[in-house]
Amino acid sequence: MSEPRAVATSLAFGSWTTFIQQAIIGFFPNVTLGSIRRFSYQVSASLVSSFRLAKRLDEVGFSDIVQIRNRVMDLRAKGATVYQFEGGEPYRPTPEHIKAAVAQALVDNKTRYAPSSGIPELRRAIAEKLRLRNDIDVTEHNVIVVTGGMQGLFGAFQSTVDPGDDVLLFSPYWTPIKDLVAHCGGRLVLTPTTEARAEGVRATLERYLTAKTRVLYFNTPTNPSGTVFTRPEVEEVARFAIERDLIVIADEAYEDLVYDGEHVSIASLPGMFPRTITSFTLSKSYAMTGWRIGYVVATEPWMTGLAKATLYSSNGVSTPTQWAALAAFTTETDFLETSRAAYLKRRDLLVGGLNELGLTCRPPAGAFYAFPEVKSISTDSRKAAEVLLDKARVATVPGVVFGPQGEGHVRFSFSTSIETIEGGLESMRRNL
Ligand code: PLP
Repeated sequence: MSEPRAVATSLAFGSWTTFIQQAIIGFFPNVTLGSIRRFSYQVSASLVSSFRLAKRLDEVGFSDIVQIRNRVMDLRAKGATVYQFEGGEPYRPTPEHIKAAVAQALVDNKTRYAPSSGIPELRRAIAEKLRLRNDIDVTEHNVIVVTGGMQGLFGAFQSTVDPGDDVLLFSPYWTPIKDLVAHCGGRLVLTPTTEARAEGVRATLERYLTAKTRVLYFNTPTNPSGTVFTRPEVEEVARFAIERDLIVIADEAYEDLVYDGEHVSIASLPGMFPRTITSFTLSKSYAMTGWRIGYVVATEPWMTGLAKATLYSSNGVSTPTQWAALAAFTTETDFLETSRAAYLKRRDLLVGGLNELGLTCRPPAGAFYAFPEVKSISTDSRKAAEVLLDKARVATVPGVVFGPQGEGHVRFSFSTSIETIEGGLESMRRNL
């Protein structure tokens, strides 16, 4: 459109708009000019095609667990006692020495920008922890500090998955993985864990492998089933990854919660470090879910990808939080041991009670979830979770949320008080 014509059009359009606005206000004195403008903005926003989310978010969803939590809050607001087993965080508070360290960081004015990949003191302490406890021989240059396990995994998938790539993983699996992969335009290829354990890990992975598989996501101990892969199993996964030239994204969020057997970091096995990105978090080990801090260990080219994903999203973890995390790694306490013992006691109490009720459940070797079969209540796990909540006021998460292989189960967290576990079991005994 030529400039004089554009000016004329806008004047004419502008004056017509003003005329219509004045007319509406004349007829309806309670209507304000502001509300007319807001209304016309909304109408035009819905008509103009650029007012839509970027396509890359089309397949990214929200967690079903939020809906369950809302239902529980609703019941509690109405005064009902609800035995809550649906959560996913430590029941213990953050240890005092970690809280004291954040307070000291504030007193010392350690409140300025830190390097985006983390303060050197913390990266060095993490590298030492990785050498001593995970048998991963690294320096601080292989470590990046991130905003919880979620950001570490986000960076790992962003660094490895292209649109059209497949990601192989054991299922049932921690649901957000689906959305992290969808955000990269990738696709999940689910390998049933029970099949792998019964028929051999390597042979099963081989059966499910596709021509487009580039990445294998490997979570041990596993959320939601509590599976801890044995050393021979982890070695089989490693051999498979090397033979098939796959990158492994290892999620070791529950590394410190192992009751039977040992935790094996796949990156510690021969030949695996260059092809493994391992994500850790302080959320579960140190009861720091709300602090939002974790770390990733890898080598190039993955470190560059992780650094870019972090720099252009959060630009690093808050500085005082990093000093608090340093105290978690450098203060000698029995927090990890006492937590493990407390969870073990809760696991045995819950699993014993569930089996007595006919909800068959193998004791999970790690993490803090029991994943019993609930087919005696309903083969539809959403229905079963509803019955548990409606009849016994016991809140759980339907297994199908964790992939089709989770159907027929529900997830109970035993990260709660002994009283809640005893109360929940008693309520199921009386009401189911
Ligand atoms: N990985 C698994 C298997 C988890 O269950 C969770 C949290 O529940 C995370 C990673 C993420 O942990 P964070 O809370 O540190 O983001």
